[in-house]
Amino acid sequence: MREASQWIGRRISLDPDSFFREHEVDIFSEVSVSVLSGKDRSSVHEFLPEARSVIVFGREVPAFVFTMAAKEKTKEMYRIAGSLDATARSLAECLNAEQFPSVPVPFLFPVRIIDGRVQGLVRLKQIAAAGGLGSIGKSTLLLTPQFGPRVVLGGVVTARSAQKSGGFERPESTLCTGCERCIRACPGHAIGRDGVDAFRCQSLSTWIPLCLVPAAKWMLRRALLLRFVGPLVPWIARHAAMPCSLCVTECPVCPTDTEKGK
Ligand code: SF4
Ligand code: SF4
Repeated sequence: MREASQWIGRRISLDPDSFFREHEVDIFSEVSVSVLSGKDRSSVHEFLPEARSVIVFGREVPAFVFTMAAKEKTKEMYRIAGSLDATARSLAECLNAEQFPSVPVPFLFPVRIIDGRVQGLVRLKQIAAAGGLGSIGKSTLLLTPQFGPRVVLGGVVTARSAQKSGGFERPESTLCTGCERCIRACPGHAIGRDGVDAFRCQSLSTWIPLCLVPAAKWMLRRALLLRFVGPLVPWIARHAAMPCSLCVTECPVCPTDTEKGK
């Protein structure tokens, strides 16, 4: 492993403000690994040993998208996620060209099971919260001051030091009112005190019936599910239909387009 100090003081020419403006990104933060929880710091270092920061960024999902039929809504969500994925690849390329080793965080897969819960290799929601983009609600979604939970995230782990933080000035407080509307509205009873059980969420349970969950978890622990499902992701993205978004739309921190003056 190369020494992280090797990248300190290197000339930085990428201007994130103009880069993200050009890529139509709504919010972003450069988060130093030093401000992350121990758990997130280790997974970031596991992902890229030379990591000094994570650049996390997001785009709003307009409120009207959640009024669309399931299939159209899903298509639109994947379109936004796909554009963030492309932005992450392009950002990583720019940083690598400047000799800062950088890796885009893949959207959706691979994932892993920690404490019985499915999570990404790098937890972008928690990192975004640590970087001042918002706070984590009881729904486990990132709640942002601008868009509530209506936001999709992308990210790049990099050896470059953090230059600019997100600007949500109340990291010690929370945007979540604690109303528990997300918990009551959830048809799969997926949201509990210790997070969301992804296999109970209707977005996944339509694909993996409850009786197959133990087998799916077993395969996931051994990375077998990813080997089989990974190549199917583009097909799933084209044909899936997320039947439920109630944890987003029921949240009072979710301003509508009208409220936002659109
Ligand atoms: S999307 Fe629906 S089923 Fe899934 S956690 Fe949210 S409310 Fe529950
Ligand atoms: S619905 Fe209420 S409890 Fe759930 S995340 Fe939103 S504000 Fe928090």
